[in-house]
Amino acid sequence: MDITEAYKELGLDPSADDAQLKSQWRRLVARWHPDRNRASEAPVRIQRINKAYHHLCQHRSESALRQEDTPSRANPAKAAHAARPQAEKKVVVREVQLTIDEATLGCIRALRGRFTYACRPCAGKGQRLLAQSCKACQGRGAIKRAALFGWLWNEEACEDCGGDGRQRERCTPCEGTGQCSVKYQHSVRLPAGVRAGDVLTVSSTRHGGLDLCLDIYVVIESHPFFVLQDGQLRCEMPVDGYAWTANRWVDVPVPGGLQQLRLNRNALVYRLRGQGFPVAPRGARGDYLVTVVPTFPDTEDAAQQKLIDRLIDASSKAADADPHSPLGQWRQRLKQAVF
Ligand SMILES: [Zn+2]
Ligand SMILES: [Zn+2]
Repeated sequence: MDITEAYKELGLDPSADDAQLKSQWRRLVARWHPDRNRASEAPVRIQRINKAYHHLCQHRSESALRQEDTPSRANPAKAAHAARPQAEKKVVVREVQLTIDEATLGCIRALRGRFTYACRPCAGKGQRLLAQSCKACQGRGAIKRAALFGWLWNEEACEDCGGDGRQRERCTPCEGTGQCSVKYQHSVRLPAGVRAGDVLTVSSTRHGGLDLCLDIYVVIESHPFFVLQDGQLRCEMPVDGYAWTANRWVDVPVPGGLQQLRLNRNALVYRLRGQGFPVAPRGARGDYLVTVVPTFPDTEDAAQQKLIDRLIDASSKAADADPHSPLGQWRQRLKQAVF
């Protein structure tokens, strides 16, 4: 992806300033994040958007550095301006994957990585200009070469100095590559209620003389228990059908652990107040919906059959003994009926 393509991808004009670049990127991430946008092209699109943004940030910081360096000989005013001790800003775009628990409760993440930047002493060129004149051409910028059996002399631009007659030396900090790389480590607090596709900007300490600015965009992983849809936290879990009919307690996963829930044989959906996903980032937590699916064995074994028979016997006797029970009344009516 070249610079023109990157601007096109973000729908921006190259004249856009850094603030416009960032706000447009945020807008596009919010729109195309696969957790929010179900279109089939969304995963590819978000990758392209992030790549374009990263590319443009890199390009801008490097060209700012080059501008600072190049005119220093011709323009002393600019040189004085460039000499002020202002650290260059380096933007690193990072994806952070969170579990639903982490997004619900907030978390601290240690982010480690490495970034490269154009070498400052040589402005990314890999070599430095010295005050002396070029040794190869004695500062003439051109070298004479014999041509046509020495009858004529040709002048050729000096390869060592590129024709400007100045001596160069290989840049030591970057070992002549023009690029330096720095490891960074930064712990980031992600607030409770952070949503997929959210973008957080973290300004970090100096690394290698650069102010590191981490642009983090949040991805929320799928979870073995929880589903988070449109800010509603849910869980669907099978429960023992007999435990359900007996209104027993069961363990239910909640963000951060397990909790006991009393089953109710008349209910399949349970609302756990204040245990859900925050209504707004850093805000109070909403409700958490647990749907239970009572499950029974396909066939009961002999021992289970016996127990069930005893249960039915006991409950039928109780129904018959109670004149108000719907089942008892029904059986009376069946007995008295004449067919
Ligand atoms: Zn260098
Ligand atoms: Zn030369």
